[in-house]
Amino acid sequence: MLEPPGRSAPSVLHSPEDVLTTLSSDGKRRWMYPTETKGRYHFRRKILAWVLIVLYLALPIIPIKGMPAVMLDFVHREFSLFGLIFYPTDTLLMMIFMVGILLTVVLVTALLGRVWCGWACPQTVYLEFLFRPIERFIEGPEHVRKRRNEGPNTADKFVRKGIKQGVFLVIAILLSHTFIAYFVSWSTLIEWLQRPPAENWGFFLLTSLVTGLVWFDFAYFREQMCTIACPYARMQSIMLDRDSMIVSYDPNRGEPRGKFSKKIANQIEQGVLPAQGDCIDCFACVRTCPTGIDIRDGLQMECVACTQCVDACDHIMDNLEKPRGLIRYTSENQLEGIKTNIIRPRSVIYLTLIILIFSAFTLTLTSRDAFDVNIGRVVGEPFSELQDGRITNRLRFRVRNQTADPLEFDFAPGTPSSMVMRVVGAAPVSLEPGEIKRIEVWVIVPREVFSETSIDASFKISFSDGTVLEPVYTLLGPNSN
Ligand code: SF4
Ligand code: SF4
Repeated sequence: MLEPPGRSAPSVLHSPEDVLTTLSSDGKRRWMYPTETKGRYHFRRKILAWVLIVLYLALPIIPIKGMPAVMLDFVHREFSLFGLIFYPTDTLLMMIFMVGILLTVVLVTALLGRVWCGWACPQTVYLEFLFRPIERFIEGPEHVRKRRNEGPNTADKFVRKGIKQGVFLVIAILLSHTFIAYFVSWSTLIEWLQRPPAENWGFFLLTSLVTGLVWFDFAYFREQMCTIACPYARMQSIMLDRDSMIVSYDPNRGEPRGKFSKKIANQIEQGVLPAQGDCIDCFACVRTCPTGIDIRDGLQMECVACTQCVDACDHIMDNLEKPRGLIRYTSENQLEGIKTNIIRPRSVIYLTLIILIFSAFTLTLTSRDAFDVNIGRVVGEPFSELQDGRITNRLRFRVRNQTADPLEFDFAPGTPSSMVMRVVGAAPVSLEPGEIKRIEVWVIVPREVFSETSIDASFKISFSDGTVLEPVYTLLGPNSN
């Protein structure tokens, strides 16, 4: 646990629950039954969650400039991001982009805490807004589910669990296939799906594995992904500071906490009992917490900032006719009456670095050539002599169309002016967006041009969009002197 604001962390851990809320005193998994709490934050998160779910399903399908909106083709090392296409030659560009994204995550965490975890992480989005609602629909609310799970095995229990797991499996299949489509495209995936598993064991095993992992995660592992497995949670303590916005309980307002009843309220009013804080120790915030923690113990690594406790406590405050916000988005400094600084050294440094990195990215991207041309020698003799005495070099031109439009290109000799080019195959050559073609060309020059054993020759490659490239390559030949 991180040290709560204004309190010291317990020096002795008394039970496994002190280490991990998902662990029982007997060392077994403590199953979470977080209650559903509707409220202003839940409403906003639900809208965002469904926008993200639809986006996740749509991005590998929506075409932008002839490519899926997002496609990470690691096999051919080509990446398509919203119309931007990155090739193997763009490794530097991709690295700059990734560093920029990483720094943005660090900046957002420094400013807004684990807003990613609570609002946009697929783990939270799918668990809280897809799998748990289905579970509630089939098995009933948390208290009913808990009672049934802890009770005897009945036909009703088996039927409900069977239906639930069947639905979970169907969703896991859809999610896993969509996930794979990000790497191979839906068209390839559909083609693979039409073949029997025996013809494509690799694909069958991959989809089975990903489906199994998705199912296992959302049907069983659940909040443990956040509390045990996710490295981001472990790093938050170095990214957060006392000015970061976190979901926090206000102990100044809530303490001393105490149960509420009309009788107790009367006794407090009459001075029989000492005044108490606004927290009525109802545990609504704990019951709704998906990771099972008590936010009143302070900022903890298990808190995914889902704001469910905020909504739960706001309901209680509404019923008590007290102001909302006993649990709220705030900073540790604010809780201690110190102004929260958004502009602070680390946020300024991160923001400056992000601006610099994305400027470098934009500059590199916009100055990137629309075509990638590479010339190599065809394996074999370095040169050969024709019957008429001229010297020929067999070259291979590798041309990639890095634009989003289909076009054609053709070759013409540059220097020496006596050079002749014979293209093997049809010319002009057509190229789809992102396509690479390797064209073999016989380059023929008079023997006399070789005053040494090599000369630099230039070629003209004209594209149908008006671009003309003039690459230079060294031709080999005999020394005429
Ligand atoms: S929901 Fe609010 S009032 Fe109830 S225990 Fe939590 S902090 Fe206290
Ligand atoms: S403490 Fe509150 S914000 Fe944190 S995980 Fe639990 S319910 Fe969500």
